[in-house]
Amino acid sequence: KVRVRFAPSPTGHLHLGGLRTALYNYLFAKLHKGSFILRIEDTDQTRLVPGATERLQEDLKWSGIKIDEGPDIGGSLGPYIQSHRVKLYNEQVKVLLNNGSAYQCFCTDKRLDLLRKEAVRMRQVPKYDNRCRHLSQEEINLRLERGDRHCIRFKLQTGCDTFEDLIYGNIAYDVALQEGDPVIMKSDGFPTYHFANVVDDHFMQISHVLRGMEWQISTTKHILLYRAFNWEPPKYGHLPLLLNADGTKLSKRQGDIKVSHYRETGILPMALINFITNSGGGFDKDKERGLKPKCYTMMELAQQFDVEEINSHSGKLMPERLLEFNNLEIERQLGMEDTKKKLIDQVREIVKAKFPKHDESTLQIRDEHIETILKWSINRIDRLTDLVSRDLMFLWVTPELKHLHSVDEKQRNAIEKLNASFENNWKAEKQEVNNYLKDFAKENGIAFSNFMKLLRTILSGLKEGPSVAEMIEILGKDNTRNRIDLFLS
Ligand code: GLU
Repeated sequence: KVRVRFAPSPTGHLHLGGLRTALYNYLFAKLHKGSFILRIEDTDQTRLVPGATERLQEDLKWSGIKIDEGPDIGGSLGPYIQSHRVKLYNEQVKVLLNNGSAYQCFCTDKRLDLLRKEAVRMRQVPKYDNRCRHLSQEEINLRLERGDRHCIRFKLQTGCDTFEDLIYGNIAYDVALQEGDPVIMKSDGFPTYHFANVVDDHFMQISHVLRGMEWQISTTKHILLYRAFNWEPPKYGHLPLLLNADGTKLSKRQGDIKVSHYRETGILPMALINFITNSGGGFDKDKERGLKPKCYTMMELAQQFDVEEINSHSGKLMPERLLEFNNLEIERQLGMEDTKKKLIDQVREIVKAKFPKHDESTLQIRDEHIETILKWSINRIDRLTDLVSRDLMFLWVTPELKHLHSVDEKQRNAIEKLNASFENNWKAEKQEVNNYLKDFAKENGIAFSNFMKLLRTILSGLKEGPSVAEMIEILGKDNTRNRIDLFLS
């Protein structure tokens, strides 16, 4: 059975790289009817950020990634927060101590520091010299009795090891050549990432590990740990780096890689998801050429997903596609009853938030009105929040016309006559409205362009924006007439 996990450390916000890792695991689980597990890796107590775990779960939920087992919903192989599993790590480290794969290390920070400095002086990569590997059992016992501070290290087997990476193929690496024996339990009684990660993946019965490329270098070490326990390792696939369009690294320091940033700026979840699955391969859709672009649903993406088709070179995000996907997603949601309802509610909330001082009854936010506007605006907006931009605000509120006191009599009379004529001569479609207005101006001997300027101001309070005929079309008969009446009153 396929069981995959997303195992973030709660050190900040979920950003695009993390979202992609979570997403690919989730899609893989969906494709194989398996389970997607969330595990919080919080054993590095010095790096914890309060509230990060909650934020992370919120961001995942918003993105439409559903967790089958995790801290909030539980599951049969929990707990799903590593700091709640310390007892298990302590038991398991004993297994390795007893079978000779691990040992107590009493080296002081000072000694390790000197080793590091010496290596730097010699222009070598710092590496623990494995000194405590060779302590006699007597000495170990003596120092343990004395209560000497110590950690536990894992004995790295020498020699080159290989594993099959689902994305990169055969990977060969000799860890012992590069590193000293790694610490698996720290002197504070907490495990290190490597140890907890392996123990948990085993006990949570993880079948496949899909994680960022930066972890590939650790995988051989993890496999050696599995061997020392005599456990079967999961299959590993490492996801290539996700880069900015210019090839630079996505950095947490740039504010706009946080998932919450997109959510706050009117990007819909599936637009963001399509945006990140759009770079780097792994989906059939990448092979589509010349077809109209589409914003896929989660299910469609899962059905197309093929880990082996993921590119092994870094993927570049294409910022211009994000808004395109967002527009496509608005259009998609508008086309289906259940999603349409949610979309309308969302717009209503955006409008209310934009005009906090307005009483709701003075805002034009009925379902039908919002729906008409969404349909009309689909080719001119990229985000729902564009609907409350300056030149579209007239859609929701009647403009204030304080500055319109000095309109000449002739114009005013013409407006009055026009409004009366609307009663029995209403035109709903913009081309017809336009013809009607032209004929009206001619028949009444008034200059068309000035007349339009005035009408535009009355209807929208704007000097620019959509054409007057279009405004009338979108506002509809009642709104149009009411606004004119208000001017005349
Ligand atoms: N805790 C690691 C992280 O924050 C997990 C790496 C892994 O998936 O093994 O990325």
